Amino acid sequence: MTISERLRQTIREQAKYRCGYCLMHQRHVYAPMEIDHLNPRSHGGSDDEENLWLACPFCNIYKSNLADGVDDATGERIPLFNPRRQRWLDHFKFGIDRAEIIGITPCGRATLKALRINDVDPLEYRRLLVKFSEYPPKEYL
Ligand SMILES: [Zn+2]
Repeated sequence: MTISERLRQTIREQAKYRCGYCLMHQRHVYAPMEIDHLNPRSHGGSDDEENLWLACPFCNIYKSNLADGVDDATGERIPLFNPRRQRWLDHFKFGIDRAEIIGITPCGRATLKALRINDVDPLEYRRLLVKFSEYPPKEYL
């Protein structure tokens, strides 16, 4: 089953053209944003609207077919953050530089680690965007 262009556009609009994980906006990502299966197809996830969200290529390449990740604080496997069903600010906050993302729950920490959201390259890129007041989105501060 493929995802129709119409549904892809619906998902982009629902996500406000932002990655559900790192909150990067499409205008700052050179490659097209990707449609992420929240519950991966390999785990039985469907192509239905409620299982889809927008993810940037940086996050999505590491999310791949993962459904959970390890919270280093406890060593437990935790389901990854679901940007459609969960509220970003309940699980993450920004560091003092406004570029680093900090997990404030087991889910947040496991997601940051699994998707390598604070790896050097995406972090340095976000720091650059902070300098130009293009990141983070004001509604997340
Ligand atoms: Zn992202």
